[in-house]
Amino acid sequence: MDDYRSAPAPASSAARTRPPERGSGIPLGRLLGVPIYLAPSWLLLAALITLTYSQFLTSRREELSLGTGLAVGFGFVVCLLLSVLLHELGHAITSRQSGIGVSGITLEMLGGYTEMEREAPRPGVELFVSLAGPVVSLLLGLLSGAAALVLPAGGIAETFAFQLALSNIVVAVFNALPGLPLDGGRALQALVWKLSGDPNLGRRVAGWSGRLVAVATAGTVIVLFAQGILDGWFGLLFTLLVSVTMWVGAGQAIRHGKVAASLPPFNARELARPIVPVAAVTPLAEAERIAEQSGGHHLAVVDGAGAMLGFVHGASARAVPAERRPWVPIGDVTRRLDEHHVLPGDLRGTDLLHAIRDDPGGDYLVVSGEDVHGVLRGAELLSLVETRRPDGWPTSRRNRT
Ligand SMILES: [Zn+2]
Repeated sequence: MDDYRSAPAPASSAARTRPPERGSGIPLGRLLGVPIYLAPSWLLLAALITLTYSQFLTSRREELSLGTGLAVGFGFVVCLLLSVLLHELGHAITSRQSGIGVSGITLEMLGGYTEMEREAPRPGVELFVSLAGPVVSLLLGLLSGAAALVLPAGGIAETFAFQLALSNIVVAVFNALPGLPLDGGRALQALVWKLSGDPNLGRRVAGWSGRLVAVATAGTVIVLFAQGILDGWFGLLFTLLVSVTMWVGAGQAIRHGKVAASLPPFNARELARPIVPVAAVTPLAEAERIAEQSGGHHLAVVDGAGAMLGFVHGASARAVPAERRPWVPIGDVTRRLDEHHVLPGDLRGTDLLHAIRDDPGGDYLVVSGEDVHGVLRGAELLSLVETRRPDGWPTSRRNRT
């Protein structure tokens, strides 16, 4: 089971040099430029599947040694992992083609997820990206099924290919169910968005539908188990775990829809205030006079060549005693701009809130390519949010499966 999700990272070029998101797992390297991580939880599932699969094999074929059974079981786990990786690459590549940056793919116990740098700009893009994963799984299922047909009947290879086909088709079908956080839920969200023009309504509808899918999944597996059609506690517990995770993810999607609907309808460029460039060598007293003359615009400290260095650090500037102000250069009380404090002008909604989450009170430079729009003050953005939503900070918009 898997999903993809937008990552709370700004889409500026600087953001690409950001360290991996927290909790991304063990780095496995890059594929087509996309960083791949393995969550430690996967190792637990890998061990369980290897054991279960080798038991299944050796119980049916007594001539097989335990070692061979374990090796084939581990091979099966690796093929499952590669299948999930290809499914996620389906999301990642279509997403990148649509102009949405991808910050990484994480493979984990219940599947995997692709983190995007922002949300889809249009319902059509959301639909395209969401369906790409299940389509890849379906193709893998058909390919493995075809391999099973041509391989010698009754052999280990045929069984292996058949089970890989079955796994990929189950992944494709299950992920196509129309409830968030599944891919089908993304597709439903995109459809409601397209019909209503409201992405947040889409999110809430698909979130509620996700809760129904979670309950239906749990109910179905319990009935199958009670009737003896599904035997083995592993399958029961695994599916129940998937259902609970889905329920939680669906709830997050509903909350995200509610919060996003309450956010100011402005992007970073519209929220940016004008800045006045001041050379770093300018004495603090002189710089304050310039700011006053400009009508209280924010000071942007630049170097001799006019390149942006940063913004004045309010507390440090206030701490300078009055008699020293004519002598202290403004560069000494400047907070240097880093890549986390540069925002693209078209960032809005929860993307914008998440971009400032590590320093909500900070000052951010808003740019579009080479154009500098001004400064976005984190505290001001928050006060807009707080007046619209008294209970404050939104919950994570990461969807889980
Ligand atoms: Zn997917």
